[in-house]
Amino acid sequence: MTEVLDSMSQISTLASTKLRYEVAMPDPTSHLFEITLHCSLGTDDTLDLKLPVWTPGSYLVREYAKHLQDFSAVDAQGARLPWQKISKNHWQIQTSGVQTVTIHYRIFAHELTVRTNHLDASHGYFNSGAMFFYVPGREQDAIAITIHPPDPSWHITTALDPVPNQPSTFLAANFDTLVDSPFEIGTHQVYDFEALGKPHQLAIWGAGNYDVDQIIADTKKIIEVEANLFGGLPYDRYFFLLHVSAKGYGGLEHHNCCSLLYSRFGFRKPDSYNRFMGLVAHEFFHLWNVKRLRPQALHPFDYDQENYTDALWFCEGVTSFYDLILPYRAGIYDAKFYLKLLSESITRLQSIPGRHTQSLTESSFDTWIKLYRPHANSRNCQVSYYLKGEIVSLLLDLQIRQQHHNQRSLDDVMLQLWQTYGQKDLGYTRAQLLDVIETIAELDLTAFWQSYLDGTVELPYEEFLNPFGLEVVAEFGEHPLPYHGLTLSSQSGKTLIKFVDIASPAQTAGLQPGDELLAWDGFRIQADQLEQRLQDYQSGDSVSITLFHDDQLTTHRLTLGEPQPKSYTVKPIAHPTDQQKINFHQWLGIELAELT
Ligand SMILES: [Zn+2]
Repeated sequence: MTEVLDSMSQISTLASTKLRYEVAMPDPTSHLFEITLHCSLGTDDTLDLKLPVWTPGSYLVREYAKHLQDFSAVDAQGARLPWQKISKNHWQIQTSGVQTVTIHYRIFAHELTVRTNHLDASHGYFNSGAMFFYVPGREQDAIAITIHPPDPSWHITTALDPVPNQPSTFLAANFDTLVDSPFEIGTHQVYDFEALGKPHQLAIWGAGNYDVDQIIADTKKIIEVEANLFGGLPYDRYFFLLHVSAKGYGGLEHHNCCSLLYSRFGFRKPDSYNRFMGLVAHEFFHLWNVKRLRPQALHPFDYDQENYTDALWFCEGVTSFYDLILPYRAGIYDAKFYLKLLSESITRLQSIPGRHTQSLTESSFDTWIKLYRPHANSRNCQVSYYLKGEIVSLLLDLQIRQQHHNQRSLDDVMLQLWQTYGQKDLGYTRAQLLDVIETIAELDLTAFWQSYLDGTVELPYEEFLNPFGLEVVAEFGEHPLPYHGLTLSSQSGKTLIKFVDIASPAQTAGLQPGDELLAWDGFRIQADQLEQRLQDYQSGDSVSITLFHDDQLTTHRLTLGEPQPKSYTVKPIAHPTDQQKINFHQWLGIELAELT
């Protein structure tokens, strides 16, 4: 994709730009962006405008048009032009041959996530896909954007290049580039730094307990480790946009920038800070994996509806695998912490009954209706392609390492894919993706794909970790607690049943999601008290459960089951062989004995 235009071509392109947006925010506390589109596309009878229904990187139809209001259109003389809506996100203006049309509308922006818009007295942040129309058939036209901040102290940060001598004006080569370029407007701090000879910026909005120098130093390490994996940086400049809020979390990748949202006081505790650097590593890794190296089915983006692909396990799962291992390789945390994160991932996956029901490829394909739309049965019928994809990627990495005595790994797969498809801006098919993996591995992985990608066979951790001197140990805690199968939540002082595990004692007893739990063997019970109460029981014990179901008081008998593992821990095996020790050392660069 063309991302950077030189100054001269920018000026000439600006003069010939037929789509020019102006974004004003005269009253930030109203949370309304005021948008003007100057469109001089020609003399057709009608002008069609569509607002995207989703943003690439976040695979859910979000219906951005729900935030649009006060739409109007006028000709060059200011005469109103009639218009009508054709569908939820499609506006059609009767232009009757006029050359230039000016459109006004407002967008309500009061949702602070990485993929939505937020405007208040402190800043304006927007994702262009949730702000700007595209003209069907003219998606490749250049688009100019001029920002009118409400106050001279507000400045603008975006990945788009500014147009020289045009204040606060930026140019996007096409609509995809525009959608890929969020804007931050306000009094945020911007820190410049260099990594591998290229300019980078860290822009931060919000107060928190972060240490900017530390973040920049560690971000540089991440940049270097990831550039090393892919053989260099495929951009001229890059910026990290960090929003900090009370308890936000999220990230969204773009070609030359990423948006990060993190808890404002989450930077001091090492554990939480390490997870933040994992988020940085994740979004930065995406600039290759998914932004430039992508499934064929994801491009061109269909802003009108879903782009279906069964490869999100690779786009997100592999990226999640790397967001754990790369901060370790960068020296941000040690191998013990890496294995702790791995253990937590395995614990999460093994606690979800849905891993027996939904495969990784199904999870990828159905993300539009499932992953982002959890419901009462989600735990029983779904598995996250982030989570299982991360662990399957680990198994693939270990398989390749074992086959090639650590001389090859998933790194070689990524580099090969990058050189064959990413650098050439070619999307890959499923067959091409799996072929590269098998070629690097020099293995027929048909059974692996059938079992772990397209099937729901339980992941055999031992088989893959054992050659590296590790095992996965199920931990039951000091006092193993009998199993019930309930997930509870607290809401306005009420204890509600959120999930009931399939085939669990709770389901057998007739307990249902949404029921209000009142008493456990005759005594009031709160969500956070259940674990403590369970310590007085054993498997086989019968408990009287009193609850409100649809406002009706009912009592049920629940027979507690055998204790389930509380967690899983990746640990060194008791008596590793020399070969296992060597394999481990070549994989993680330290002695196996250092873990104990
Ligand atoms: Zn991701």
